[in-house]
Amino acid sequence: MSKLDYYEVLGVSKGASGEEIKKAYRKKAVQYHPDKNPDNKSAEEKFKEVGEAYEVLSDEQKRAAYDSMGHAAFEAGGGGGFQGGAVDPFDLFNQVFSGGGGGGIFEQFFGGGERRDPSGAQRGSDLRYDMEIDFEEAVLGCEKKISITKLDECDTCDGSGASKGSGRKSCSTCGGQGQVVSQRGFFRMQQTCPNCEGQGTVLEKPCKSCRGGGRLEKKSKITLKVPEGVDTGTRLRSASNGEAGVRGGACGDLYVVLHVRPHEIFDRSEDDLICDVPISFVTAALGGELKVPTLSGSASIKIPAGTQSGTTFRLKGRGVKNLQGYGTGDLNVKVNVEVPARLDKEQKTKLKEFAELCGDDVNPQSKSFLEKAKVFFR
Ligand SMILES: [Zn+2]
Ligand SMILES: [Zn+2]
Repeated sequence: MSKLDYYEVLGVSKGASGEEIKKAYRKKAVQYHPDKNPDNKSAEEKFKEVGEAYEVLSDEQKRAAYDSMGHAAFEAGGGGGFQGGAVDPFDLFNQVFSGGGGGGIFEQFFGGGERRDPSGAQRGSDLRYDMEIDFEEAVLGCEKKISITKLDECDTCDGSGASKGSGRKSCSTCGGQGQVVSQRGFFRMQQTCPNCEGQGTVLEKPCKSCRGGGRLEKKSKITLKVPEGVDTGTRLRSASNGEAGVRGGACGDLYVVLHVRPHEIFDRSEDDLICDVPISFVTAALGGELKVPTLSGSASIKIPAGTQSGTTFRLKGRGVKNLQGYGTGDLNVKVNVEVPARLDKEQKTKLKEFAELCGDDVNPQSKSFLEKAKVFFR
């Protein structure tokens, strides 16, 4: 697959400045962020693409290598000595949007911190939590208990920020207006009062536990229901389990991003399961019944006589239930014919006798191959 030009991906010219590149990245990354485009694969791809393009073009050395060698600069053995796309696009996004501090992204992105209503209430930030689960848990669904440390309502003051029995008093800095006016030369500037943050009142006696903030870092246990059919990258939203709000504001949400551990026997392709099963060459030749594992007990497959290695048998509906409710995938069982490894003397003799009995017609594939390859053997 040919890769798109990094400049085109970001929609900037070859001579674009670092600032232009950053601006272009911010715009596109927000546009394509998976949280704004749930279940949209092409947006997710675009999101990764702009991340990769930004990773390279924002780094002077990488950009120079890309300008002179193109994508070859980042390929193995390409001589550039760089690894392209090595950075997680989400980490990159967080870096750019939080100025490196981390954590700030959700506030900006979901509009948590920016909104300010007159009562001073602020919605709590959304949080992200990455969780590993087993293959079976992803396919069959499960319930998980997670423990996270986050800003929660302060118990001492029930989130009010005020010491017991105390209330609020008018702010002396702004005289209760919430705004202060300053004169700078000709300009009169009206600003939100820095002392009361625009509320016009301040706490008489701030709560000692939370120092008036109304929130404290606390450990919370959260039970999470993981539905059947999730996969790596699935995001689950746990409503109101993000950070507590400020001054009566709503709680943020918790977003749990799943990572599925690989399975010893099964592979997965979207909603289909794939399983490689060895069979003896006798079973392959004579046919028979083959017991195969499924994630819900065992099943059996009829192997017809003369089955070749690599043949795939489909067990309809024994795959993964679609997360959006569009039916259930299949289980694809691929049989691999095993050649006997350690034969004793008698077994060898019998096999040799067998070989003598075999004419070309027993091995149709060999026969047709030999016919095509005849010219090479003359
Ligand atoms: Zn408190
Ligand atoms: Zn004030």
